Amino acid sequence: MTRTRSGAPLRRLFTCEHGGREIPAEFAAVFEDAAAELASHRGWDPGALEAFDALAAAHGDAAFAATTSRLLVDLNRSLHHPQAFSARSRGLSPGERADIAARWWQPWRESVVATIERWLAAGAEVRHVSVHSFTPVLGVEVRNADIGLLYDPRRQAEVDFCRDWLQGLRQRGWRVRRNYPYRGIADGHTTALRRRFGPGYAGVELELNQALFPARREALLRDLVQTFPAR
Ligand SMILES: [Zn+2]
Repeated sequence: MTRTRSGAPLRRLFTCEHGGREIPAEFAAVFEDAAAELASHRGWDPGALEAFDALAAAHGDAAFAATTSRLLVDLNRSLHHPQAFSARSRGLSPGERADIAARWWQPWRESVVATIERWLAAGAEVRHVSVHSFTPVLGVEVRNADIGLLYDPRRQAEVDFCRDWLQGLRQRGWRVRRNYPYRGIADGHTTALRRRFGPGYAGVELELNQALFPARREALLRDLVQTFPAR
């Protein structure tokens, strides 16, 4: 069993909040004319599920992926966040939105929480990687990184983990940036889990440039797996 520097057993968790663009049949009418939006980066994170699968297979003690589109409800947003529901879902009634939250958002989030609670209660430390991808161009902004590692600079385990992974990936030639293209402390799944759990929990968002798929996919997945920090 892998142990941390302090000797605690280590448990690794992977999640993929935006792995697919499925819409449940009962809401198909709401998204009838949204094919282009669903297929775009606004509907899902292309490539993220492949990276999640590779990392979870190689290093995961538990893994949770979702393949329902974020346009129904965004699993990487708190329910009170203005973007938890997309413009289309905001057109639904409050009752319908509550139903969506109860059936897709809550069970998924609660499964992750229950897993972490069990591990922490057993004295383990947790490393959680939430796998995402970002569009290479947003408006007029061209993103100048292959890989982003998002974390909370105040949490030492996250700082150490990201430093080690960044060094390993840079040695293989990847352009890696810290807290880019978003900040790790913005509203999100890892941020919610940090609020809930103490320093035994370390959560990092892995952000992959969608331009790497499919051309550099094989090299990317190989290097992510091989450079994954031991601790
Ligand atoms: Zn995402």
